[in-house]
Amino acid sequence: MIIEEMTMCEFADGLEKTRTVLIPFGATEQHGDHLPLSTDTLHAVEVGRRLAEKRPIFIAPPIPYGVCRSTAEHPGTISITTSTIRALAIDIVTSLRRQGLRNFVLITGHAGGTHTSALIDAGEELLERFEDIGIAVLTEYMLAAREGRGLIETEGDSHAGEIETSRILNSHPHLVKGEGRREFPSFPSGILVRNKRRFWPGGVWGDPTRATAEKGAQLEALVVDALDRLVTQLEQMEYPRQFSTNSPAIRSQILENLVSNIQFLVTVRQVLQAPGVTLRWLCSARQGADRCRPGEPRHRARLLQCQRSGSHGS
Ligand SMILES: [Zn+2]
Repeated sequence: MIIEEMTMCEFADGLEKTRTVLIPFGATEQHGDHLPLSTDTLHAVEVGRRLAEKRPIFIAPPIPYGVCRSTAEHPGTISITTSTIRALAIDIVTSLRRQGLRNFVLITGHAGGTHTSALIDAGEELLERFEDIGIAVLTEYMLAAREGRGLIETEGDSHAGEIETSRILNSHPHLVKGEGRREFPSFPSGILVRNKRRFWPGGVWGDPTRATAEKGAQLEALVVDALDRLVTQLEQMEYPRQFSTNSPAIRSQILENLVSNIQFLVTVRQVLQAPGVTLRWLCSARQGADRCRPGEPRHRARLLQCQRSGSHGS
């Protein structure tokens, strides 16, 4: 379920199938003289799209900017700060949670260390803030390198090299311009440098000349399978957290729901005592997207209508 292609009603119906969303983070960053600036975004979007073909899952619109320190001076890179990426992650998850989603997979196609740390930091803060959510933060490069270790020939291959070039050759071959050049940069160990391009002129870290579309297809499938297993694991972790009564947040939510249940029952009584009033009115409660709270009165609204009319209606 690709969120940017869905209508409001399709989104609400999607919540009946899953409460898990994958949020693809990418970058607009140089990838040598042969791969597009959108390479990292394309990786994350592609695995999301393919995962959505395998299982019910929402795929959020991608964030095409990342923190790109080492390549900030190469032509085409548009870098944002760690505070911006962190705030984006927190705001987007908070908003999706308000919509009823509870499991969040923040997958980044850009695997820069500072960028990934900022996303992990955001994830940790979200875990503290909301006790009813599950969250995973990972780079999909990590999955590709781990799952594809039997396929990749180049030791230490990372940026715009064998792995990334193979994958774009497979998913977006029309965007690959030439075969690229093998390069391994030589940054001084432990020393921060100002002119990073001087130490990394070509913008490749690895060997793109060993890339093939076939390798890319295999890597893609391995990444999607690994992601599929991770989402299953995340979803299985959901319920003990969500219904923990040791949580002050859940306790106050249950209390709130009890109060609204009482108000709801008073209204139901009035409706049932008035023969001229149809139960169609109760159906409007079904349109709320966030429908799965413990004790949620909307459940009762639907059940009541089923009992009376024998069908769910729309
Ligand atoms: Zn990349």
